[in-house]
Amino acid sequence: MKSILKVYGFIQDFFSFLTGGTECISCGIRTLSVPLCRNCQTELLNFVPFDNDRRCSRCGKVLISEIGVCRECSESKAERFLDGMFPVHMYRLWKKDLMFAWKSQGTRTLSPFFASIINKVILNLTENKKIEFDYIVPVPPRPGKMRKVGWDQVDELCHYLQKFYGYEIFYPLERISSREQKTLNKEQRKGNLGAVYRLKEKFNLQGRKFLILDDVCTTGATLDKCSRLLKSAGAEEVYGISLFLVD
Ligand SMILES: [Zn+2]
Ligand SMILES: [Zn+2]
Repeated sequence: MKSILKVYGFIQDFFSFLTGGTECISCGIRTLSVPLCRNCQTELLNFVPFDNDRRCSRCGKVLISEIGVCRECSESKAERFLDGMFPVHMYRLWKKDLMFAWKSQGTRTLSPFFASIINKVILNLTENKKIEFDYIVPVPPRPGKMRKVGWDQVDELCHYLQKFYGYEIFYPLERISSREQKTLNKEQRKGNLGAVYRLKEKFNLQGRKFLILDDVCTTGATLDKCSRLLKSAGAEEVYGISLFLVD
């Protein structure tokens, strides 16, 4: 597995060498392969650990002055369907530029690096017995996105997580198109503001445990909606992980 990564890195370096390299999105220095220098990569690999002194035990946000639970979570009475939520970094400053380069400008050379961050966090969480899961479940893209754009960042993360690190990926969810959403009745729409998801078929997920993966989460509502669906099909435990959390 490590050797595949090395070969991959080597090929990337070689091509960037031929094309003259690129600039680090964060600090601007010349880099050979991905547009993020080694120092800035290390910064992203060194995440704030998920222990209850440093992170909100409900949403995983980095705590500043609160203890145990963040203010938003302690004020919210909404029922939660996630057994744990683990956003790696807060979505601030140059991390927004990084996401823009990856998602909107299609800098797909960043994908293996992001997969390595997710893998590092998963290893840490499983070692500390914070999570246990059988499958990673990606938050599905807009319908037709694959056909139109040719790729999806969460799907690509899953691809590398499987190929480089051996995780099993399960695709039980789909996103309902906005046209289809209009046909939902009032009851179905209730609490479904924003994107709507559903199970692709009638699954029996009894006794199974899942980790839902997203790239950026805002309130955790998407992860929670997806978790609710998996639990309605019998899932025993469902956790959520994302690269960034908007706060
Ligand atoms: Zn840098
Ligand atoms: Zn919180």
